[in-house]
Amino acid sequence: MLARHRSGPYGTAIPSRLRALRGTTSIQSLTAAFVAAVVGILLAASTARAGDAESAKEWPRRTGIVVLQFDDGTAGHFTHAFPILEKYGLKGSFGVVTGNLGKSGSLAPDQVVKMHRAGHEIHDHTLAHNAAMWGDPGRKAEWAEHTEKSLKILRDLGITTRGWNHPGGKGSQWTSELHEFLLPSYDYVAGRVNLEPEERYNIHWNLRDHPFSLGYGGLGSIPRRDSIDASRDDIAGVKKRIADGIQQGLVVISLWHTVKDEDGTAWGVEEVCKFVRQHNLPTMRMADAVRAIQHPREYFDEQVEQIANPGFLCDYDENGRPDGYEGCRYASEEIRDTADGRVAEFASDGATWIYGPEPGATRFSLRARSAEGTPCRLVVTMTSTEIDKDDHYRFGEPQQILAADLGATWSEHETEVTVGPEVDRIRITLEISPPGKVQVSRLSWRTGG
Ligand SMILES: [Zn+2]
Repeated sequence: MLARHRSGPYGTAIPSRLRALRGTTSIQSLTAAFVAAVVGILLAASTARAGDAESAKEWPRRTGIVVLQFDDGTAGHFTHAFPILEKYGLKGSFGVVTGNLGKSGSLAPDQVVKMHRAGHEIHDHTLAHNAAMWGDPGRKAEWAEHTEKSLKILRDLGITTRGWNHPGGKGSQWTSELHEFLLPSYDYVAGRVNLEPEERYNIHWNLRDHPFSLGYGGLGSIPRRDSIDASRDDIAGVKKRIADGIQQGLVVISLWHTVKDEDGTAWGVEEVCKFVRQHNLPTMRMADAVRAIQHPREYFDEQVEQIANPGFLCDYDENGRPDGYEGCRYASEEIRDTADGRVAEFASDGATWIYGPEPGATRFSLRARSAEGTPCRLVVTMTSTEIDKDDHYRFGEPQQILAADLGATWSEHETEVTVGPEVDRIRITLEISPPGKVQVSRLSWRTGG
């Protein structure tokens, strides 16, 4: 299925105590190594037991995945991105335009081979990046010709891929005909597909029925500016989105096209690599992220906590707001509830998303009190989102799942909800009346009833 690289499937992110597992090729050991690696990463700073490599189901909570994606096979991917990734021990995914290999400004074939041998993913960004051709179902004969040639070019370089990267540009269009055409040759498509562009986090986990709908998520393309200074705000925004996405259980794809010194893009790649390394965020090649999405039951315990940051522990981007939550800030340090985690202060309409919730009976709970000490009413709603057969999002009606009267002392509230089999993501919103603030010490979303 997926190309096996000499350096192991997860780059160098595997903790040293798990290195013995590397080099094995059975799916089970790979899964165990992956789970244990991420468990190790998540628990590195806590006293909880990480569990043996074999006890895959001990993963205590869901988390997102970072993918570092580079499109179009431009020369800077080898001269700049590759050495930066290697410096930080990270593996990227490179969408190569196969017909351009060796041309001026593009990667040379031996450079692609070197990156692949070093464990980076190379996938098919088509023979000629002809957006209009792939958008026209009347040109199926050309689709076949281009696919055959493109995969042969990669094969001749010793690269097997199951990933197809949809070329963007004028005439680009995702159709059911293209979906059908690609099915026999590829496991996933990287690209926007039909997901609404205004939807910032437009990658989704519901890939079991839609293995082809892996839209660019999280970050989208990082803009090209004319200097490092002009790129600073972009990169600060990227860190914020990575921090939020990771805590909500999202696959966040950071996408670059050209990577150069003079426009600040090489600096940006290094900043993002530094950031994910500094916080030990799970970073995978796209093909590995797809596998993790398609087999969630192999990775998560039945009682798994699906809000990745239930105790508001993380503020990776240091913006004073717990990662993954909108409309809330940390309460001051001296405000404490339980020993674990910090207290977050929600204004009305504060919200978070849960990406890829497990279907079935789910228990939602929170500990809260009125921030001002005066009585208030808290209403929690959930909005489920499904993806229809044309890969469009369909937002459901907001549904009230919990209502509680809060006072000056902490109280715990709990309810059971049912998640439908097709739900891709859920928005959890807190409404407060009369308008004011509530303090929350923990939000929990656990499957298993
Ligand atoms: Zn492209």
